[in-house]
Amino acid sequence: MKTLTEVVDADTIARRVASLGAAITADYEGRDPVLLGILKGAVPFLADLSRSLPAEVEIDFLSLTRFGEEGRVSISVDSATSITGRHVIVVEDIVDTGLTLSYLHGLLETREPASLATATLIDKSTRRIVGVDLQYRGFEVGDEFLLGYGLDWNGRYRNLRSLWAVMDLAAFQDDPESLSRQVFAAETPIGS
Ligand code: 5GP
Repeated sequence: MKTLTEVVDADTIARRVASLGAAITADYEGRDPVLLGILKGAVPFLADLSRSLPAEVEIDFLSLTRFGEEGRVSISVDSATSITGRHVIVVEDIVDTGLTLSYLHGLLETREPASLATATLIDKSTRRIVGVDLQYRGFEVGDEFLLGYGLDWNGRYRNLRSLWAVMDLAAFQDDPESLSRQVFAAETPIGS
């Protein structure tokens, strides 16, 4: 069995992110949204998405701590931007069970934004435990574990330009170092 397989290449990600940007631009005309990126996984997605949006868009980040099987969440590093009365778009890397996002929405609603929407690069909808509204979704995937374009394994591989699925978790855990070299060698170079 192949240990890793490229599931979405860099050019496909770029095109999809640009089309999400075009949709957000049209939907938010005249409303000056704030993009609220969830650290650290949303960084590449937010960076690319924001460059498909009008120059006036504001960007901020917050960091979450997740604990417990039930997916409880607290904000470990808060954003500096006041979102009261603002049109907020939460930018996530991936929505899996939905527990993180549903807690986050509850927290953000207490700050009384004018509106709250979510853009996620990846939706693992078949794994959902709690329902969440996702206004902008890049790719729908199954339940494989993904790496790259923000998604990590022990803090690594977020800087890969494409998305990879781990097909053989045991083999990957045995030798992640050599596999990372293979991944970097195999990635489709940007613009090729
Ligand atoms: P949820 O609360 O929706 O179950 O989980 C969301 C978080 O789980 C994501 O922000 C991410 O940190 C982690 N996660 C879920 N699926 C994956 C995956 O396939 N790869 C990686 N690297 N993280 C994942």
